[in-house]
Amino acid sequence: MSSAKEDIQYLIELVRKDLMIKEKKNILYLNPLKIKEIVEKILVLEEALNEKDELLKKMEKEERHLNSIIEEDSDKIQKKKTEENSIKTNAAYQAWEHEIQYLASKVEMHEERMFGVLEEIDKGKKELSLFSDDVEVRKEKLMLEKSELEKDVENSKKRLDIIEDEKLRILPHLSEKIRKEYQKILNAKGDTAIANLSGDVCQGCFSRMPPQKAHEVRRNNKIITCEFCGRILVYYPEKEKIENHE
Ligand SMILES: [Zn+2]
Repeated sequence: MSSAKEDIQYLIELVRKDLMIKEKKNILYLNPLKIKEIVEKILVLEEALNEKDELLKKMEKEERHLNSIIEEDSDKIQKKKTEENSIKTNAAYQAWEHEIQYLASKVEMHEERMFGVLEEIDKGKKELSLFSDDVEVRKEKLMLEKSELEKDVENSKKRLDIIEDEKLRILPHLSEKIRKEYQKILNAKGDTAIANLSGDVCQGCFSRMPPQKAHEVRRNNKIITCEFCGRILVYYPEKEKIENHE
């Protein structure tokens, strides 16, 4: 039968496994949320890029449209000019002249508009190219982050199974009385039945223990429970790394 001192050493192993489990479960909870956020960020970038691209296409369409009107009106002017010799009356001549002036002013107006559109297209193309490069870089970074998080999830799942199994293998080492108490507290608490004491503070419920009690806990040779949360108090230095990441 184990002594209280031995029990406590196993309890320390158990609580450390519990902390590792908590850490892994935290990863399994948080990483999918982070991954979702990244997917949304990528979507926003792609949409912004798409929007700029659509805008450019719209301006290019306007360019084609203006080109065709200008061409059409220019053709009309050319055609009108060939009619000059067949004009019989002054009135007809004036009408003819007006018509040409009107068409010429339309061409001029559209050409001016075209000038602005071409400038916009030029600017738009430069912007799109810069933005597209920027989006690529940002997307690549986000994809990398995402794959790291996914890898972390996979590893955590595997580790979780292993740690749970290791925990099960520690349990038989506890004395029967402590094992039963441990199980009872665990059933009541859900997460862990044991808490480390950091300074004078129970790490299960973060309540401060009286100094004398804390002193006794640190000796690790007597089963003492936290008067606030009911967990078995143990002591081990926290500075040691909980787990080596694989
Ligand atoms: Zn407590």
